[in-house]
Amino acid sequence: MILITGGAGYIGSHTALKFLNDGFDILIFDNLENGHIETIDTLKKFGNISFEKGDLRNIDNLENVFSKYKIEAVIHFAAFALVGESVEDPAKYYRNNVFGTLNLLDTMIKHNVKKIVFSSTCATYGEPQYTPIDELHPQNPINPYGSSKLMVERILEDYDVAYGLKSVKLRYFNVAGCNEKAGIGEWHEPETHLIPNILKSVTDKNKIFKIFGDDYNTPDGTCIRDYVNVEDLADAHKLAYEYLKRENMSNVFNLGTEHGDSVKTIFTECEKVTGRKIPVQIAERRPGDPAILYANANKAKTILNWTPKRTITDSITSAYKWEKKLK
Ligand code: UDP
Repeated sequence: MILITGGAGYIGSHTALKFLNDGFDILIFDNLENGHIETIDTLKKFGNISFEKGDLRNIDNLENVFSKYKIEAVIHFAAFALVGESVEDPAKYYRNNVFGTLNLLDTMIKHNVKKIVFSSTCATYGEPQYTPIDELHPQNPINPYGSSKLMVERILEDYDVAYGLKSVKLRYFNVAGCNEKAGIGEWHEPETHLIPNILKSVTDKNKIFKIFGDDYNTPDGTCIRDYVNVEDLADAHKLAYEYLKRENMSNVFNLGTEHGDSVKTIFTECEKVTGRKIPVQIAERRPGDPAILYANANKAKTILNWTPKRTITDSITSAYKWEKKLK
């Protein structure tokens, strides 16, 4: 059985679906603070899935789960992931993302579970020194969210040396789209991400979409990001799990499309997909936003044999259908 922490959330639920479709038995552990019980109910239609409500910060919750189920490997998503909030309340981030993960790792070691796929982020790189960003780029996070993820990467390296815990760290770039046919998608409250925010200005007449800064040093003045489809990302988790089984070796991979789109390009694509004129205004820059981030994902391609298949138009199309359902 594969344990998926945070499996009621956005990326966790898509990965759970991938494993279910491939015939695995899945156990989801989630405190439902940001995840949704409706997502678990939806996933139940697709295979053998158990759900335990619990919190990483409570080691007894973890002990109960590891005693009750025979767990083979862990895919660890459960974390807080809002950059702005992490600056305002770093304690929340370090307590959950770092201390909570330590509880998880210690419980794994105790129960002799020695394989973990960890959700890391391009936010561990900080302000890019060069693009595209490869895995060897220096890691200097500029906010507590990125720091909390980098700390766990370091802990995982030390736990490998000392306890033989093998980990694959996946550094995601920007994630987009959903499997709206299966009934799962991006469902954050409040929503801060670009694509759902543009689409909410289509479904909600009172919402004007704001571009955070058009005076960056980029061709159209708006920030450039690498938007990778969530189902492609889910595929990468399956490949990472297979890599751990096959090689029994730790590693780290960037996950992105190796292609950058500006905020204005994404906005225009959203108008095209929805067939609507979307109200927009230029606003102040958002603190902590680097001008350009996109991945060199060659390592994931060659070693994991991962190829992102979905386009940005696919991602926006599925996200729009989901947004209408959510509404
Ligand atoms: N962005 C924007 N308006 C919004 C949300 C985001 O202009 O309502 C911009 C943001 O400044 C960044 C890009 O879109 O340049 C991607 O932001 P998002 O929050 O989706 O992801 P992040 O890059 O922070 O992980």
